[in-house]
Amino acid sequence: MVNAAKVEHFKKISVQHNCQLVAVTKKRGVEDVMDLYRQGQKVYGENRALDLRDKAKALLEDMEWHFIGHLQTNKIKHIIPYVSLIHSVDSFNLLEAINEHASKHKKIVNYLLQFHIAEETAKYGFDQSKITDLIEYFKLDKNKHTTCCGVMGMATFTDNKKKVKQEFVRLKEVFDELKTHYFKNHTHFKEISMGMSGDYELAIEAGSTMLRIGSALFSEEKIFI
Ligand SMILES: *Cc1c(COP(=O)(O)O)cnc(C)c1O
Repeated sequence: MVNAAKVEHFKKISVQHNCQLVAVTKKRGVEDVMDLYRQGQKVYGENRALDLRDKAKALLEDMEWHFIGHLQTNKIKHIIPYVSLIHSVDSFNLLEAINEHASKHKKIVNYLLQFHIAEETAKYGFDQSKITDLIEYFKLDKNKHTTCCGVMGMATFTDNKKKVKQEFVRLKEVFDELKTHYFKNHTHFKEISMGMSGDYELAIEAGSTMLRIGSALFSEEKIFI
């Protein structure tokens, strides 16, 4: 169930810090999405391609759907008609496949480059050592049906605030480096998607422009076994 007070809290924070709030609705039903909508929330994040497609199809035109999970190339086709931002481009292969589908749909698809900033190896993303390669790649000016809008990262799942803060600061540095060396005149390149329910304050301090908040928007739910 959506917790109205918590939603208000995050809406206030996002205005205060000029951060967009992406309400993560993964594993939540359409009633929860509608509850958020009635509170004025229009941007939602999903981490499964078919869930994004199904919710976007079933719900309202003026809702905005962001894809935040690991995207397999064979699932791209399901989200292309509905997605307004893909947060999780983590390989050139994936980017080129997205471009191909976008071209077929005569669309320009917005995306973020996901960087691996966490300690856990299970998390996806480009390594920071790839920045030079990325810049060289972008100079080739391929993928005309896509627009790079910035970067995204997930911090290590830990209580160590200092560590999490350092990881977010590093992502901000990655953003700045890409901005300086390639995207200087690209006005679209302006987003730093970082911060979740457990670490959004640290992400804001480090310069987040987009918070992906899931569990903190909802009340504890009864679990039926
Ligand atoms: C689930 C998820 C979130 C939201 O996590 P919460 O801790 O529930 O706020 C943010 N980003 C990604 C990529 C996720 O998969």
